Amino acid sequence: MPFHPVVDPCAPVSSLDAASDDAATSRAAVLVDALRRARRSIDIPQELVDAQSSLERRIRAHLTRGKVAVTLTDNRYTMISVRRLPKEKRYEVRLHHMFAAADPVMTRALARYVADNDPEASRVLGEFIDQNNEHVRGRSRRAPIQVLFTAGEHHDLREIFDELNARYFGNKIEAAITWGARNGKVRRRNSIKMGTYAVQDRLIRIHRSLDRKFVPRFFVAWIVFHEMLHQVHDVQLKNGRREFHSKAFMSDEAQFEQYDEARAWERSHLDAILTY
Ligand SMILES: [Zn+2]
Repeated sequence: MPFHPVVDPCAPVSSLDAASDDAATSRAAVLVDALRRARRSIDIPQELVDAQSSLERRIRAHLTRGKVAVTLTDNRYTMISVRRLPKEKRYEVRLHHMFAAADPVMTRALARYVADNDPEASRVLGEFIDQNNEHVRGRSRRAPIQVLFTAGEHHDLREIFDELNARYFGNKIEAAITWGARNGKVRRRNSIKMGTYAVQDRLIRIHRSLDRKFVPRFFVAWIVFHEMLHQVHDVQLKNGRREFHSKAFMSDEAQFEQYDEARAWERSHLDAILTY
């Protein structure tokens, strides 16, 4: 598809000069304030409503199909997350408020990422997030943000994470989640790390091998559940060695409702999981 630049009346005319940088900063401050007020009441402040619908219109301008609903957030970890609802031909997108002032290049990248998981669009968005680091609460320019891909082709990690967090953890887990890198050539591996949890970044990463049709949702959920438990259980030192999975960890892990089912499924599908 050729690139058609879309003239966008809502986008800042120039976001590069210092004057409009100041304008962008004060716009961001207004939004942060509106997001704070939105958290405290059921009424969504008008500034927020306007910013969201403006961004929706600008993203939609680049979409060939489907509708998009934007929710702006002040998240610390997840900058972008997408829920695709193919039946309703709808995309629900949660975006950090840094995207409120996105220019047409960026709204186009958002559209391509949302609709097609486009890798080039992901790269462009990743750079934008890095450049706008200072808008993220508690972040400095020195700490680059991980770009997160929660919507897979078959499983939505955000949905799974939210559900588990509510059900098992009283919504106490504060972590980001993403699919890992895509594979190159399909091959049979000797081993695979289905999930990892990076303590410093509070980031759960799930192997792309699990984003396949034959992998049931409960199995992905089990892997996510395991990684979430790593935030609850610190790594213990035992006889001078680090113990990642203590007895307490394992007994908590067994609380997963489909624990036996998940383990049985893993045993019978190991070969298929390793071939990715
Ligand atoms: Zn583990």
